[in-house]
Amino acid sequence: MTPSDTPEQSEFRQDALSGRWVVLAPERAKRPLGLSNVKPHVRVNVERAVCPFCPGSEAETPPEVYAAPGPASTPWQVRVFPNKFPAVRPIAPDTHGLTQRFDMRLLPGFGVHEVVIEGRAHETEPTALPDDVYTRVLIAYRERIKTLGADRRLDYVSVFKNVGAEAGASMAHLHSQLIASPFVPNDVREELAGAEREHKFSGWCAYCRMLVGTGGRKPPRFVAESSGFLVICPFAPRFAYEMWVLPKEHASHYETITDSQALDLARLLKRVLTALDAAAGMPAFNYFLHTAPLRTPPMPHYHWHLEITPRTARAAGYEFGTGVFINTVMPEKAAAELRAAVPAGL
Ligand SMILES: [Zn+2]
Ligand SMILES: [Zn+2]
Ligand SMILES: [Zn+2]
Repeated sequence: MTPSDTPEQSEFRQDALSGRWVVLAPERAKRPLGLSNVKPHVRVNVERAVCPFCPGSEAETPPEVYAAPGPASTPWQVRVFPNKFPAVRPIAPDTHGLTQRFDMRLLPGFGVHEVVIEGRAHETEPTALPDDVYTRVLIAYRERIKTLGADRRLDYVSVFKNVGAEAGASMAHLHSQLIASPFVPNDVREELAGAEREHKFSGWCAYCRMLVGTGGRKPPRFVAESSGFLVICPFAPRFAYEMWVLPKEHASHYETITDSQALDLARLLKRVLTALDAAAGMPAFNYFLHTAPLRTPPMPHYHWHLEITPRTARAAGYEFGTGVFINTVMPEKAAAELRAAVPAGL
């Protein structure tokens, strides 16, 4: 066997906080792809109709619940309105609330589903968003979480972004969404429980610990940083080129982000998303916010973060059947490639 024939060792890795296992299997990247269309598509944004998110089409969307005005006389630069085709609605919850039987729990589809329009220009690439618009988007997340937190029936606000049809986007004009639910979703609950366990055990916030390098070096799998934020590839990523963005200063609640931190974060996001496009070939991707549940006090063990999950492979039977993702790119390698592709900061 020549060295090039030596199989690359695969590894099971577990995310200690969520308990989620993954398989890192670089060798699978070499498998023959016999079916056409087997590779996830490079994201393309071909419009089928006139864009209802552009200025002038405001009447086609539900009335806005939040708007950030632009400079001078611009009526809005970032708009938030209820999703016209929502997954959940702010209906009065059923007076019976939760129905529980031995094999089922049922709640009415009560909640809030909103769309955040990112800028007046019909832009389709997040990296092309001007810094001030991106900053207003990040501030809009903060303001909506604060406002929705006043509704005591809601326990959690999930903020997420889908870029490219493969990642679930149905409209090209840059936008994010949020869904507020009357419960804390499982993934977040597991992270919270794992982080609390770790804090009790070691006295550390596990996320703060991820940001620390040894011997004056950068933390493991470091990708990029700004004055207030740091980006790493996680130890046990589900997706190739997956990245986590964390504030350097410990903070459990995204709502505490300041305007100047939002600008700093916007600039850093543009840099790492540029690197993602270069390293992974313009994949469709999602990113989503993980933050503490509504109306909870500051937590020493939880640390809000943004997870960027590129659609570099298709989830299939093993992933759906077990929750264990197969990832063919080691995060150490992904981080090195991303790091090399990050444009210089300001
Ligand atoms: Zn548009
Ligand atoms: Zn922390
Ligand atoms: Zn998370």
